[in-house]
Amino acid sequence: MTTKEMVCVSCPIGCAITVELDDNNEVVSVKGNTCPRGDKYARQECTHPERMLTSTVKVEGGSLPVVPVKSASPIPKEMLFDAMKEVNKVTLKAPVEIGDIVIENILGTGVNIIATNDVV
Ligand code: SF4
Repeated sequence: MTTKEMVCVSCPIGCAITVELDDNNEVVSVKGNTCPRGDKYARQECTHPERMLTSTVKVEGGSLPVVPVKSASPIPKEMLFDAMKEVNKVTLKAPVEIGDIVIENILGTGVNIIATNDVV
């Protein structure tokens, strides 16, 4: 049996959560969360951790040299590094509109990378 300590990031309260795992890394118990979202977060964090990707992409011919981008939803944590490499390969041409899809279905995750600002 092992325990993992983590902070729930599902809301600003940031409950301290303790997860007990058995020898097969299966979750035995979740304690410290004050709502069901914390339980879900803790179980996912132990089995399939995900993270939002946020970055910037180069823009040619615009009023700014880069535009901020993010993943439309979280992607598997272990894919973040490779996803960043894909994002770094992209150069857009102005104008870019907020919500534009910068990369569709990045690395086959089903998640799009989208612009989060306008660059005209
Ligand atoms: S467990 Fe619930 S209340 Fe606590 S940080 Fe997570 S979402 Fe917020």
